[in-house]
Amino acid sequence: MNLEKLLDTTFNCRCGRSHKVPIRNIIYSEDALVHLPGVLSSFVDGRRIVLIADQRTFDIVGRHAQEALEQTNWLVHQIIVPDSNHGSPVCDDTTHNWLNEQFPSADIALAIGSGVINDLTKWSAFDHDLPYAVFATAATMNGFTAANVAPTIKGVKTLIRARSPLAVFAVPSVIINAPSELTAAGLGDTIAKPLSTADWLFNNIFLEENFCRYCSEIINSLEAYYFTHPEDIRTRQPAAIEALLNALLYSGIAMTIIGTSAPASGGEHLLSHTLDMMSSIDGVAHDLHGRQVGLGTIFSAAIYQHILRIDIPKPLSLPSDIDSTFWGHLFENVRDQYQQKKPKLKTIREKLTDAETWQTFIAAARQQVRSPSEIKNCLKSAGAAHTFADIKCSRERLLAAVLHMHEIRKRPTIIDLAWILGILPDSADEIIDTWLTT
Ligand SMILES: [Zn+2]
Ligand SMILES: [Zn+2]
Repeated sequence: MNLEKLLDTTFNCRCGRSHKVPIRNIIYSEDALVHLPGVLSSFVDGRRIVLIADQRTFDIVGRHAQEALEQTNWLVHQIIVPDSNHGSPVCDDTTHNWLNEQFPSADIALAIGSGVINDLTKWSAFDHDLPYAVFATAATMNGFTAANVAPTIKGVKTLIRARSPLAVFAVPSVIINAPSELTAAGLGDTIAKPLSTADWLFNNIFLEENFCRYCSEIINSLEAYYFTHPEDIRTRQPAAIEALLNALLYSGIAMTIIGTSAPASGGEHLLSHTLDMMSSIDGVAHDLHGRQVGLGTIFSAAIYQHILRIDIPKPLSLPSDIDSTFWGHLFENVRDQYQQKKPKLKTIREKLTDAETWQTFIAAARQQVRSPSEIKNCLKSAGAAHTFADIKCSRERLLAAVLHMHEIRKRPTIIDLAWILGILPDSADEIIDTWLTT
């Protein structure tokens, strides 16, 4: 698939919808900084730019970007986002409000960084109705090209629809030499995709959610390289890192095209979001999104392995409510999500008695998912997190996350199906012992 030709297009898709790709340029080259001013000038007439970085990304790329822009008569207003108590900056309502207070009048915004800086810039640029671009410093997650922001608001992991960037810039030597745990986190986020797609098909088959085969193929076409040579990620082979960055960029584009996170976020993502929310309750630090998602993906693949063995599903009664004591001050927000999901769970439960629907789902899922051992081996060979100790989490904390993660989101996932079929809570301990312990 020649993916570059997708940029800056609108096309009628086989799925019956028209898809728009608002991202105009992806510039991955050693001289990306040289192209920066000219590309940005093609987007806006004015010359006022707000450049947002943290101290590390400013030192790596930001300073050079500022020089390149100033040399071409841009007026650069630079904002350095301070670190949080746990280290790097976070994308939450407090930081967002702080950033908006500093935000000058400008013609365009430029994020210099990866997950958090990109999200904060995207969010504030959207509030100010400004276009934005991002200069990526690590292949660490797929939010670069997405229109969504994933902040924590009042302690709850939320999705806000903003606008995707007009361009993504990156210098290969910067991406290749980024801290290895960031790159390995990127692999954790992208390895989730076959599972997210299976969950998307699950929602399509049981709840008639729109599914786009073309978008799912975009993602499938990108994973071959790192699945065959995961060790090339660990040893920083340029072709492997480029394949990983491309997979991240185009899975973000798939989310932008569809307008939801469905192509790239299913039940496997819930583990990461839940661990983040637990952190906001008890103040214990959490690990990087992609590292936690890697474990969630192994878990989800193990759940699918149980499900694919079932010939005739026997639905049990549903968990009627959330565990209110567990969620502390987040209790009302979580309950609200879960209550919105309950009618959908009822529909799924009813349709489970239809043998044809079940066989359709099993056939589709079997085509899509990979086994937990394949996913674990890929992460392991790449030097990515694959055990609870790797993400600095106790077994007890992981188990608690696994048993509560179905409660946080209104969209059903395979984790809900596992509860309906009694795979959860029964198999949680066995899955953790077999797949996430060593
Ligand atoms: Zn993700
Ligand atoms: Zn489509």
